[in-house]
Amino acid sequence: MSEADCRFSAPKGVADLLPPRSALSRAATDYFGQLAPLWGYWPIETPLFEKTEVFERSVGGTSEIVTKQMYTFEDKSGDSITLRPEGTAGVVRAFIEHEIYKKEPLPWRVFYAGEMFRYERPQAGRYRQFKQVGVEAIGAEEPEADVEQIELCLTFLEGIGVVSPRLLLNSIGDKACRPRYLEALDGFLSSNDVSSKLCQECRLRIGRNPLRVLDCKRAECRRVTEFAPKSVEYLCGPCRVHFDAVQAGLQALGIEFVLESRLVRGLDYYVRTAFEVISEGLHAAQDAVAGGGRYDGLVESLGGPPTGAVGFAIGVERSLEATRWANILSIRQPRSGSKAESAASSGLLTPGYSEQKGPPRFRIRDSSPDVVVVGVDDSCRTAALALGSRLRREGIATVVSPVGKSLKARMKYADRAGAHITAVIGPEELTSQTVAIRLMGSTEAKIAKQRTVPSNRAVSEVLAILRSESSEGDGTVSTSAQREPK
Ligand code: ATP
Ligand code: MG
Repeated sequence: MSEADCRFSAPKGVADLLPPRSALSRAATDYFGQLAPLWGYWPIETPLFEKTEVFERSVGGTSEIVTKQMYTFEDKSGDSITLRPEGTAGVVRAFIEHEIYKKEPLPWRVFYAGEMFRYERPQAGRYRQFKQVGVEAIGAEEPEADVEQIELCLTFLEGIGVVSPRLLLNSIGDKACRPRYLEALDGFLSSNDVSSKLCQECRLRIGRNPLRVLDCKRAECRRVTEFAPKSVEYLCGPCRVHFDAVQAGLQALGIEFVLESRLVRGLDYYVRTAFEVISEGLHAAQDAVAGGGRYDGLVESLGGPPTGAVGFAIGVERSLEATRWANILSIRQPRSGSKAESAASSGLLTPGYSEQKGPPRFRIRDSSPDVVVVGVDDSCRTAALALGSRLRREGIATVVSPVGKSLKARMKYADRAGAHITAVIGPEELTSQTVAIRLMGSTEAKIAKQRTVPSNRAVSEVLAILRSESSEGDGTVSTSAQREPK
């Protein structure tokens, strides 16, 4: 055997990530780790593998992931173990196992960044080990949660420079209205002139899970399903209200979207909102950089109490392939090199040398929100959502309290969430275009700082308070407002 024959290469579908491109991947996940806390998300780390059942029960027995893509093996004690193909199942398992619903104010917001494993046919943008960053808001019932997550997802994708990200949106109904839709879809797909044109796999899907036919990437299948019945036309009252509110919320934040009636997502647990972000920078069969939606029934089906939830996951490799940075960084350049220069002038490359004396200090970011925005009643929801968005754009970690609870419960929520400030918008404030800003805690000095300010000054007022507060701290735990304003 020659020496060359003895050399090993990485298994098919996985790749080494070497410098300098590795820096890009690390920078992207770090960036997500900086953004997510602004929306009130704390980091979570769940195991890279779970009992196989966790995925079978949550992702769904008819999904492509469970039927074809899982890395499943028996460990030495004979237990069936699966490398995680996605992040949600493990997070929900942890939520139930640790009885978070009894201990923490809900929604429980967590974010993750890590490796996922799927046995897929390797091709550009499709790997057997890949990274996702994602979030889950468990106990989030209201449409505002969907809107805020979409905002976070797009902020990240735009921040790393994904070429023309486009948000696709759909609602796939829930337990109440989906059966009627599935019946209509099944009728359409089973008709002879449709089914005869579908690929063999899709024909099998008709009986088992007709929704999945809409997800098929083959051009011919996509052509025939173009005129399939649309789930949005079969929504029950509550699903309709939810979907309308998601769209209104996106519009209020100036987020553009395209309604895509065939967007169903690959996993069984989704209800109501489904969204995907695609990029023109990628090949059409793998153009999704992110996907997410609601999974209201999942916590219950894994043994927890009925709990609304929403989440998304972003494919890190694919997102980076949809930017221009990958090319720039793939060539190591001397400092004056033109590619390195253009990366530097874009602000992507930061110099290794920092003005700060000595090595960097170890810091733990305080993930409790700086501000909880409380909308007093239904009429204030959009104003609360918009204020939350404006505060985050200034680097202020902000959570908008759910409206469904009593006002007292919401103020308590703000307190338990550890917020420094509450910003209250009631009908009175709405009319006078003001916001009532209140420092949490009850010392006299803090009460003296309560004030009602014009809403266009609310952000600068909050910033001023946070800066004066943080200058009193010892600096070992940094709140977002301690960072330089953008
Ligand atoms: P697709 O339709 O492309 O197969 P999916 O619906 O299976 O995607 P999700 O489970 O929603 O993907 O995962 C979220 C994101 O993770 C995708 O939008 C994509 O960017 C990324 N992703 C999924 N599978 C892979 C893979 N095998 N390799 C690299 N990235 C992936
Ligand atoms: Mg897939």
